[in-house]
Formats: sequence, C-alpha cells, structure tokens
Amino acid sequence: MADKIKMTTPIVEMDGDEMTRIIWKMIKDELISPYVDLKTEYYDLGLEYRNETNDQVTTDSANATLKHGVAVKCATITPNAQRMTEYTLKEMWKSPNGTIRAILDGTVFRAPIIVKGIEPLVPRWTKPITIARHAYGDMYKNAEIRVDEGCKAELHITSPDGGCTKLLIHEFKDSGGIVQGVHNTEKSIASFARSCFNFAIDTKQDLWFGMKDTISKTYDHRFKDIFAEIYEAEYADKFAEAEINYYYTLIDDAVARVMRSRGGYIWACKNYDGDVMSDMVASAFGSLGMMTSVLVSPNGAYEFEAAHGTVTAHYYRHRKGEETSTNSVATIFAWTGALRKRGELDNLPELCAFAEKLEKATLSTIEDGVMTGDLFSISTLDNKRKVNTQDFIKEIAARI
Ligand code: NAP
Ligand code: MG
Repeated sequence: MADKIKMTTPIVEMDGDEMTRIIWKMIKDELISPYVDLKTEYYDLGLEYRNETNDQVTTDSANATLKHGVAVKCATITPNAQRMTEYTLKEMWKSPNGTIRAILDGTVFRAPIIVKGIEPLVPRWTKPITIARHAYGDMYKNAEIRVDEGCKAELHITSPDGGCTKLLIHEFKDSGGIVQGVHNTEKSIASFARSCFNFAIDTKQDLWFGMKDTISKTYDHRFKDIFAEIYEAEYADKFAEAEINYYYTLIDDAVARVMRSRGGYIWACKNYDGDVMSDMVASAFGSLGMMTSVLVSPNGAYEFEAAHGTVTAHYYRHRKGEETSTNSVATIFAWTGALRKRGELDNLPELCAFAEKLEKATLSTIEDGVMTGDLFSISTLDNKRKVNTQDFIKEIAARI
C-alpha cells in the first residue's frame, strides 16, 4: 500500500457513547487509519469517563478545540434520571454539547446529506438547506409566571446607578393569565451573525435571515440591525468576492420562499425558529442518519458531528448480541468534515482529497443500492439491499 497521508496538527477527537461509540471505532479502523496517519488529541466523552473526571474532560476537550481549531465529536448521552442509575452517576452531568457550545461561543449549522434514491419530501429541494440556529436566549432562558385576575404586569429595568424604567405589559382586569420575560445580548447576537457570515463564505452559499421585526420593533429589530451593521462593516466585500448574497426578509416570507426554493443556502434562524424548522427540514430530507452538524465559533474553531444521538435502541439490541443496521453516514461525514477543514487550514491538499474520496465512496455505496435499514425503508432504488452496521462500513471500504 502507498504511504499514508501525513498530518501536521492534530484533530481534537471527542469519543462518545453507545451505538455511535461502536461505529466510531469501526470508521477509524476501517475507513480512515488504513489511509491516513491519523493524528488526534483524544478525549473520552463517554459518560463513564465524564463521571470519573467530574465532567472536566468535556471542558478540556472544548479548550483543546479552541487551541487546535478543529474537532470531531461522537454522539454522547445527556444524562437524565434513568441514566443516573444505569451508570451510577455522581451527578446529573450537563449536556456535553451545551458545555462545548458555551466555551466555543458557537453557532450550530445542520445540513442534510443528499443522495440519489432518497428523495426529499419537497421535490423541489434538490440541494441541501443548512439551518443555523442561534443557540442562546429568547424563550430558552426565560422567566415566566402565571398571574391572577386583577394583577398588573410590568417590565422593570434597573440600571447600575439605581435608575429605573417601567413599561406596562398588561393589566389583567377581567381574567388571569400568563407572562413571560425573555432576553438576548448584543454580544451573543453579534457572535451568531459572524459565525453565519463566516460559514456562508466558507461554504460559498447565500445566507438568508428572517425575523418578525414589523411586530417586534425593538427586540427582533435589534437582531436585524446587528446583522446589517456587521455585514456592511466586515463582510459585504468578502461576499461580493465569493459571489454570494446576504438576504434579509420577514420570517413568514422566508418560510414561504424556502418552500419554493431549490435549496443550496444557509438559513439563519432565531433560537425558537431554528428549533422548529430544523426538525421540519431534517424530516423532509429523509433520515436523521443523514444529517450533519457543525459548530462554528466566531473566532474560527470548528467542531463536526452527526446531528443524531447515540441510537440507544440499537445499542441495547447490539448488547444482547442481536444484529443492528445503524446508519454511519452522518458520523463518517463528521470525520470527513474535520479532515477536510484540517487539510485546508494546514495546506494539505491530499488530506482534503481523501475526505472527498471517502464521501464519494459512502454516497456511491448507497447509490449502488447498499444501505442501512433507515434508508432501505425510504429509498426509491429498485435494486436496494439492506445490510448490517458492520457490512455497510465494509462496503464503503471496498469502494475507497
Ligand atoms: P437518537 O439517538 O437520535 O435516536 C432516535 C431514533 O432515531 C433511533 O432509535 C432510530 O430509530 C433513529 N436513528 C437516529 N440515528 C440513527 C442512525 N444513525 N441510524 C439509524 N437510525 C437512527 O435519539 P434518542 O434515542 O432520543 O437519544 C439517545 C441518546 O442520545 C440520549 O441519551 C440523548 O441524550 C443522546 N443525544 C445526543 C446528541 C448529541 O450528542 N449530539 C443528540 C441527541 C441525543 P429506530 O429505533 O426507529 O431505528
Ligand atoms: Mg427541535
């Protein structure tokens, strides 16, 4: 075999849990290590080791990502009450993705992988739609309360000098009701904007953004203004050079245009819009196993992962010795995303070319009709054949 491709800077490798941890090792052993002299800085984010290190390993892995610039992450368990007993945890550790996102101050971009035979439910969508969700504030960090009839609700802002501004929300004269207080910060909105503009330039795609600024004249309007100010000051020239556009419209108009579009752009969404729309877009494009995700920090660090979780149901079957047919495509593309980005940053064209080759081999496996169960049930190919987790990866290896 020819010499393996050399790397200069390590990729931060964040291992994970359950079925995806098993797939992780198969991908490394069978699809990458035979061709690349893989250099990684390894962090075990599996729940057992997170528990052993009091979750310090998660923080360390995020800081390493800031240092090296590129990470690839396996899906991980976010503990709940049931996991507390299953893994005898010292504490209900926080979601690793939340911890990493907070340290990287990043935005998550989710994009579907498109392949012949898996037709989007919206037939016009021939190119991927990438959703960027602002993952801070609004309803997700709210204060809310039920109020009785006769109460009066006011906004009450105290400044550092003790000054106070009041604004009436509602007088509940003849009925009780509900009140919600939400916020966002200019810093977080600006980070979100920069991550979106950078990623648009990176991937040479237009950027769309929608708010309800006609109704929310201060709150939503501030998002619109911050995006516009940063775009004009820092990105307009770069967009012109890359021949891409930044397009702002009202959120309802954006939704209507998305349905009529061919895809092939990034759709930046407010926190709630992104939560809802990313599930809609993901299901319209097919399987969760075909959805990739990348966290882009405004200072240029990238963390690649699959959008799905650890596929617990399959893992329990695997542990009982039963055969599984778990889709590894999104995890493979997390690796190729990281390898390609590492190659770009370190000027290693062979590494980028390998990432390309592995993606092509993966897609041609499915286009040849060889696929896991999730795709088998929706593929329109005539000659399709369902294979198990291991054989799917072996079929890809045979095509590299
Ligand atoms: P999930 O792991 O995404 O799986 C939900 C279901 O979707 C599976 O049971 C399976 O359906 C299908 N599916 C997802 N990925 C698939 C794949 N690659 N191949 C084939 N089918 C796939 O979500 P979950 O069961 O709600 O969560 C499991 C664990 O993952 C939880 O502990 C959660 O905390 C964690 N999680 C982690 C992340 C992350 O690290 N980014 C994200 C989400 C969830 P069928 O059973 O019908 O085949
Ligand atoms: Mg959602």
